[in-house]
Amino acid sequence: MSSVYTETLNKLIEEFGKLPGVGPKTAERLAFHILKAAPPEAMKLADAIRDVKTKIRHCQICWNLSEGDTCQICSDPQRDASLICVVEQPKDVISLEKTGACKWLYHVLGGHIAPLDGVEAHDLTIDKLVERVRSGQVREIVMATNPNLEGDGTSLYISSLLRPLNVRITRLARGLPTGSSIEFASGRILADAILGRQELE
Ligand SMILES: [Zn+2]
Repeated sequence: MSSVYTETLNKLIEEFGKLPGVGPKTAERLAFHILKAAPPEAMKLADAIRDVKTKIRHCQICWNLSEGDTCQICSDPQRDASLICVVEQPKDVISLEKTGACKWLYHVLGGHIAPLDGVEAHDLTIDKLVERVRSGQVREIVMATNPNLEGDGTSLYISSLLRPLNVRITRLARGLPTGSSIEFASGRILADAILGRQELE
C-alpha cells in the first residue's frame, strides 16, 4: 500500500483488505466511508466486531454458536431431543434451519477428520457426541456431514463408534451432489434430503 494516506488510515484499509472478497479498491472505499461517517455510526461497527469476538462462544451441549452456556436450539422445549443431526460447522446448522424442516437437536463437530491437514478425530467434538448418545435419550443420529471424501469418512468413523450404542444412524438423502457442501446447498434440495434420509450402511 502506498503511503499517501496517514498511517492510521493505511491500517484500516489494510484490515478491510483482509476480508474475504474485498479487493484493494473496495478496502479503500470502505475505509473512507468509515472516515466520513459520524463517530457513533463508526463506533457501532467497532462494537459489533468486539461483541462478536467476546460474547459468542460454543454451546456446552451441541457446540453450536451461542451467547450463553446453551444455544437457543438446545434450550427450545419444542425440539425432539431424541434426534440429533451431526454437522461439521455452525454454518451448516443455519442452512438446515432455514429449510424449516428440522425439529431436531444438533451436534457441531467443528470440522471433519483430515489427517493430511493435521485434523484427527480427537480434534473434533466426537467424544462429546458419544457421551450424549450414551446418556440414553437419543433414538436417532442423522449424519449431515458434507457429501465429500472427508465428510463421508468422518461420518463412517462416527457411526463405527455409535453402532454398539444401539442408536439408529441415518444420513441425509443423496439428493446432494457428491463433492458439494451443506452450506451452499439450496433450501429445497436440503429439505428433500432431510425428508428422504436413509439408513447409513
Ligand atoms: Zn446447543
